[in-house]
Amino acid sequence: SPNQKSTEEIYMTVPSKFVTLSNGELISQTSHADGTRTDYWKMDKKHAPYLFFMGVGEFSIVKDTWNGIDVNYYVEKEYESVAKDIFGKTPEMMTFFSTITGVPYQWNKYSQIVVRDYVSGAMENTTAVVHGEAAQQKKGQLIDNNEWEGTIAHELFHHWFGDLVTAESWSNLTVNESFATYSVYLWYEHKYGKDKANAHMYDDVQTYLQSQSEGKKLVRFYYENREDMFDTVSYHKGNAILHMLRDVLGDEAFFAGMKNYLIEHKFGTAEAQELRLSFEEVSGKDLNWFFNQWYYGDGHIRLSVTYDYNTIINTVTVNINQQGKTFKFPLSIDIYEGNGKTRHNVWVNKTRNSFTFPFNKLPKLINVDAKHVLLAEIDDKKTLENYIFQFKNAPHYLDRRYALEEIAKHQDNKEAFNTLIKAFSDPYYEIRILALERVDLFQKYYKKEAIAKIENLAKFDKKTLVRAAAIEVLGKLVEAGYRPLFEKGMNSESYAILGKSLFSLYQIDKKATLDKINTLSEDTKEHLAESITNIYINEKDKTKLPFIANHVLSGMFLSNNKRVQQLYSEAFKWISESNNKEAITNLTDDFVKLGKMYKKFNFDKMAINMLNQLVYTQQQSSNKNKDELILILKTGMAKLIE
Ligand SMILES: [Zn+2]
Repeated sequence: SPNQKSTEEIYMTVPSKFVTLSNGELISQTSHADGTRTDYWKMDKKHAPYLFFMGVGEFSIVKDTWNGIDVNYYVEKEYESVAKDIFGKTPEMMTFFSTITGVPYQWNKYSQIVVRDYVSGAMENTTAVVHGEAAQQKKGQLIDNNEWEGTIAHELFHHWFGDLVTAESWSNLTVNESFATYSVYLWYEHKYGKDKANAHMYDDVQTYLQSQSEGKKLVRFYYENREDMFDTVSYHKGNAILHMLRDVLGDEAFFAGMKNYLIEHKFGTAEAQELRLSFEEVSGKDLNWFFNQWYYGDGHIRLSVTYDYNTIINTVTVNINQQGKTFKFPLSIDIYEGNGKTRHNVWVNKTRNSFTFPFNKLPKLINVDAKHVLLAEIDDKKTLENYIFQFKNAPHYLDRRYALEEIAKHQDNKEAFNTLIKAFSDPYYEIRILALERVDLFQKYYKKEAIAKIENLAKFDKKTLVRAAAIEVLGKLVEAGYRPLFEKGMNSESYAILGKSLFSLYQIDKKATLDKINTLSEDTKEHLAESITNIYINEKDKTKLPFIANHVLSGMFLSNNKRVQQLYSEAFKWISESNNKEAITNLTDDFVKLGKMYKKFNFDKMAINMLNQLVYTQQQSSNKNKDELILILKTGMAKLIE
């Protein structure tokens, strides 16, 4: 149980070629005549038993430091040279988290170790964090984006929320996980600015909204299995709720409350009510309404927004109707008229709420939840003109993102198309990528100016992911003139650029591209799986099914891109009907691996269902080896049920 804290001593006797890692300090190492060695690790500060850790194996230890304490990265030898590209921001994060919490890092060292076949993504064992193998990325991936940076922040921040102050019970798990999840927002906001933080929050909120967890409370006293608590509600919803709480309290009280909670309960345990008391103490505000609603109640805000204009007395009434449960919350409404905007802050606490505001000139945009802090689904009917104005004038990442998504549906409108082109120069790279993904170059001869801008992005954008997205767009034009650009891209260090260049070249010269693929190492091919799978599917090359099978599930379920999902869904169908034993085996293994890894999103149950369907497909087929294939599929299902 998480409230049984203790100190800890561990002795590990291992073959002397292995290194060991555990919590706390390595006190001694004793070699024995039989070629083994005993390592003695001691953690002299109290922590919870679920944080105890033993690691043994052949690792390269890459050394770093923070304020005089050891910060070590244990990786496979092959990744020694990139260990600092993966983990090297850890000391800077330790400084940032120490500052923002007002509580310096409390432990004697900080080690991170990467292991194979780990049961989940990562785990915050005190001073000995373990990461799954996905943490280990090649240079070509790291140039594009370090996909593990958020996880590194998350596990580190547990050394304040989780390891230092621990959830008193699994029911209160969110006091660990919501903060660890929110730390990624805080880190991105600090290091890269609000756009990246808000883009990340958007993804987290989508994960919650799509999980159909509306009936689950953040703090749950009745659950079947403690593993059930490790879900998107404890993590992502909790994270969004903290973000709202920060808005309700203001930054000063929010961070002071965090500090108060950590100091009050350090090396002990706490539950959500104690979190409430910590924030109340520093803010002087009663927060029962907030905690009862969000921590001990379920659901989220659902609004429909309508507007009534009175052009005789120049007022607009904004009607806010709550569609589901009635929540109480502060709401920001921005009214744009003339060259400026006016922010109105109101409280919503009824099912139907109306707020009337005066204006001098008819507003060009009314932006409800202008701060974008609410955990809410908002149905707000805006015109295309509103969205074009919003894209150009409203500052938040979501203002631009939502506007761009709508504008992209109306590219036959000249102003809409021009606004979409403007998004190619957005300061935030994910907006530039979104614009590239959505741009429609049908009737390309009228769109020379846009194409020139895309060429420019393909060559010069400072983000390799944007260059890659631009190359993909140019590839669809099937213009032989781009051949030098694509060939240059095939020598890029960036896997994203390499992959998109490969596929773009394929559109103009199939043979040259297939020859090129054959020269790539197996390892590089794995990292370019999306492009190569795309090509193999186009080629209808059955001998490549085992390769495709290794990537089909990630493509279907882990990609946010609809076209990628569609492509892999077709490949999935192709594999499921085939008699290719290796492909069926690879697919089954991947189901088992991802099913276990994403159990908290119920992927294990979905995997079992899909394997069951595959069994049925094979039963109906005329494949001669179908009995053998069905056995492989059923063995996979059994592994997920155990
Ligand atoms: Zn966590």
